Amino acid sequence: MREQLLALALLTPAFLAVTAWRCPGVPHSSGAIREDAKAIASSMSVDVATFTADLNWMASSPHPMGSARQSEVTSYLKRRVEESGARAEVQEFKAEVPNPAALTGPAPLTRVVTGRNVYAWPDRFETGDQTGKKCVVLIASHYDTKNVEGITYTGANDSGSSSAALLQILRHLKSVPFPPEMRCAIGLAWFDGEESTLPGWSDGETSFPKKIVDNTWGSRHAASQSFSRDLAGLVLLDMIGSPELRITRDAHSTSSMMKLMESAVDALGYPSSLLTPDFLPVEDDHVPFLAKGIPALNIIDFNDLSVWHAPGDEPLRVNPKSVEKASRIGVLVSLMAAMDPQAIR
Ligand SMILES: [Zn+2]
Repeated sequence: MREQLLALALLTPAFLAVTAWRCPGVPHSSGAIREDAKAIASSMSVDVATFTADLNWMASSPHPMGSARQSEVTSYLKRRVEESGARAEVQEFKAEVPNPAALTGPAPLTRVVTGRNVYAWPDRFETGDQTGKKCVVLIASHYDTKNVEGITYTGANDSGSSSAALLQILRHLKSVPFPPEMRCAIGLAWFDGEESTLPGWSDGETSFPKKIVDNTWGSRHAASQSFSRDLAGLVLLDMIGSPELRITRDAHSTSSMMKLMESAVDALGYPSSLLTPDFLPVEDDHVPFLAKGIPALNIIDFNDLSVWHAPGDEPLRVNPKSVEKASRIGVLVSLMAAMDPQAIR
């Protein structure tokens, strides 16, 4: 992802009117965090042993979209989801990406690679008293690494920390009873191909001869598809393992969800300094959903960039306590959204 100097006007009222979803008869939230949701979020802990094992496995070598290693990571995530007792779904897509060889000699401008998004659907929502839920809130991460010329970049923080965090969140959500007021299910998504295949985030659009959006491949595909339930909201986690977590207030994120995050930070007993005072527009996997009128929040530490896309982004530098903080906040915002989806529109 990258910061953006000028905020894009992604949402237009006309667009929202077409895609807006309303849950009838739900009282509008006062913004206060519910005690039952808080109890679920605050009882979530990162199990350091399994977290580290998942992180070490994923961040042991580079795994950009379309690589042989990335298909192994796909299989790993699918297996870990199934081990948790949830239903795994792999969404395959073809991405026509820039061909770097075309920049240095005669070669086709593009090449086609296979990308795969992975979803976890906790089965409690498929059967029993949870049957009939009409909407879903997604907690998401990307799980590819950037191909960085000249170095071995394995992406422990970007994207291992949030990918392994989702497995921890899944384990927790499978183990706790949900409040009966849950109106939406919660699902988890690991997006492929967030990183640009060319060196710069926007090179595909600015300097490549055939103008191509060369980032957020998996999330753009996901946002273009219909889900079996209405997608009520998206909570994205990215780069959450820095030694001292400091969450960037992302200017693109839906303001109602940003307010929920502020309330969640306070309810969970974290200092308000956990959030940066200033807003910064960050382009990331939530943007394609915002463009479809889906409320979305990006929980990202875009302050500590000392090892970003650099060899030092190693598992030993990832702080499980930072991951736990961001995960609890993400879970709490997701629960609140799932209980009152109208409040985040
Ligand atoms: Zn990155």
